[in-house]
Amino acid sequence: MDFDEFIEILKGINIKITPARLAILSIFDKAEKHLSIDEIYMMAKKDVPNLGIATTYRTVKLLCDAGIIEKHNFEDCETLYEKKTVKNHSHIIDMESKEVEEFTSEKIKKAILEIAQDLGYDLVNYRLELYCHKK
Ligand SMILES: [Zn+2]
Repeated sequence: MDFDEFIEILKGINIKITPARLAILSIFDKAEKHLSIDEIYMMAKKDVPNLGIATTYRTVKLLCDAGIIEKHNFEDCETLYEKKTVKNHSHIIDMESKEVEEFTSEKIKKAILEIAQDLGYDLVNYRLELYCHKK
């Protein structure tokens, strides 16, 4: 999804495009990592100086509800958000630095598909989080 598609989604569900929403949308459009509320707030404040933390929370929740961004509650990490992508990916969490990286594995996907099939299900989605210590 790109920025224009985000805007179309919001218009489609009758959500007004405010400066705060626009600023937060564009942060997610450009973000290359998973962001905490504080990070989103600090970045958005540069464009919208009168932005408050409560508005940031509300806007992020609204974008989650609209299916534009995704919320992650990784163990022992603060809540992180990222742009919802079409491509399913898994996360690897460094337990010391709390850095979160993404990976995809066709091997794992195939295995999970097979497990679901064997149990009599059609797989709709899956989530995989690896908690690791760096070697
Ligand atoms: Zn991710």
